[in-house]
Amino acid sequence: MSETRVLSHYIDGRRVPGESNRFGDVYNPATGRVSARVPFASANEVGRAVESARGALAAWSATPPAQRARTLMHYHRLLESHRDELARIVSAEHGKTLDDARGSVQRGTEVVEFACGIPQLLKGEFNENVAGGVDSYNVRQPIGVCAGITPFNFPAMVPMWMFPIALACGNTFVLKPSEKDPSCGLRLAELALEAGIPAGVLNVVNGDKEAVDALLSHPGVDAVSFVGSTPIAEYVYRTGTANGKRVQALGGAKNHMVIMPDADMDQATDAIIGSAYGSAGERCMAISVAVTVGEGTADTLIDKLAPRVRGLRMGAYDQDGVEMGPLVTAEHRDKVKGYVDTGVEEGAALVVDGREEVVSGNEDGFFLGGCLFDRVTPEMRIYREEIFGPVLGIVRADDYEEALDLVNRHEFGNGAAIFTRDGDAARDFTNRVRIGMVGVNVPIPVPTAYHSFGGWKRSLFGDHHMHGPEGVRFFTRMKTVTSRWPSGIRTGADFSLPQTR
Ligand code: NAD
Repeated sequence: MSETRVLSHYIDGRRVPGESNRFGDVYNPATGRVSARVPFASANEVGRAVESARGALAAWSATPPAQRARTLMHYHRLLESHRDELARIVSAEHGKTLDDARGSVQRGTEVVEFACGIPQLLKGEFNENVAGGVDSYNVRQPIGVCAGITPFNFPAMVPMWMFPIALACGNTFVLKPSEKDPSCGLRLAELALEAGIPAGVLNVVNGDKEAVDALLSHPGVDAVSFVGSTPIAEYVYRTGTANGKRVQALGGAKNHMVIMPDADMDQATDAIIGSAYGSAGERCMAISVAVTVGEGTADTLIDKLAPRVRGLRMGAYDQDGVEMGPLVTAEHRDKVKGYVDTGVEEGAALVVDGREEVVSGNEDGFFLGGCLFDRVTPEMRIYREEIFGPVLGIVRADDYEEALDLVNRHEFGNGAAIFTRDGDAARDFTNRVRIGMVGVNVPIPVPTAYHSFGGWKRSLFGDHHMHGPEGVRFFTRMKTVTSRWPSGIRTGADFSLPQTR
């Protein structure tokens, strides 16, 4: 039997073994076996990573932006040539299919692509003669040492929403990946060094709450980017801002798809299958509620959808033709299964029950078959709470206004979509819906790298969305300079507020 790998941290350009003597198990979710042990950093170890980032800050922030961008171009080439390797690392610890993992690595790599053009966005504006002989300009400067705390569901893409932008803007970075699938973060940091990003500019500390708390309280950390569940996002936002840090904290979701009676039902069915059950529903942009509008829409949808859910091909990421992998841990699988039990107790109609499905040859894997509920109502827990698994609930609405109201009243505001052929309905929906990312006949409207990603309501704490122009704003601060040349002009002492004259 092969020995279990012991992972490390990545500090100052090299792998550093853990010293705290606290470890977590990392699983291959398809087999249910432990594949590695990850060290949990102590506050001291986190301190070392922050010191390393602080030590690298002066030189990196003084490096011309175009030079930083050129180094990121090398990084981009390395990410492209290592895409398969990175995807395998993601799948082996997360469980998602290889194709899905490749797509997520690609979406992350696109943020690096965007970051290569960031010098253009750091440019300031200049005004000549704002007052007699006085000129004014502003620039965007790096904020300092930034920390990123990331969730299990996108171990490559979500870290890459953060650190490429931070680095391109001249900051240094400490990443704290999810303890459930930590290997990808380590590999991303190694490749960064190989690309020429200096040691200390990108560090990785592995760990749990102790490492997060150490980052949130360390005086050497200037900004914190967080992605994860809403309770932790709120905690990170409140604690980080109370400690004087700039924080963006993206939280959980309950994404609705409104299906109008005139929608192309085949298109809507395809869209639901991919967006509700792809990645076993472990996506913050997964569709978890289908709101059918009008008499008969739900019945038509269920006729088409139920056989497809029953026929989902489950298996390990490296098996051919697999559409859906396992959940990330046994604990999470049991929690999702518990929600299905709750839905039945609450009186929702379980049209497809995947609770007893097994994958032959992978009986110990953390699999759960696709589940489909009909007649879900807004007061049920399975409607109100994020389940984060392959479970879709159908809510029947009498008309469009009722459907819109449901979406708007939900505590989360990450994504929502409308499926319709009616341009008026689509336009009204995009205008009035209280949601950060909206799709029209597009089920997973994830903004591209040069737009910004973020939700509303309790799906985001803080003012800035991730990557794109909002990412640049988050990872920089503005400085405005007002200068007088020639310096010899005498204006005399002025005791009133300076005015334009
Ligand atoms: P999580 O909140 O459990 O963990 C996220 C991070 O916080 C991890 O690094 C974890 O180590 C750390 N953490 C966990 N408990 C903590 C605690 N008590 N104190 C301090 N830190 C703690 O989330 P998860 O289960 O890894 O990921 C799934 C969640 O992330 C879902 O809710 C999903 O919707 C959300 N998510 C949101 C987005 C988005 O863009 N809004 C994207 C991806 C995932």
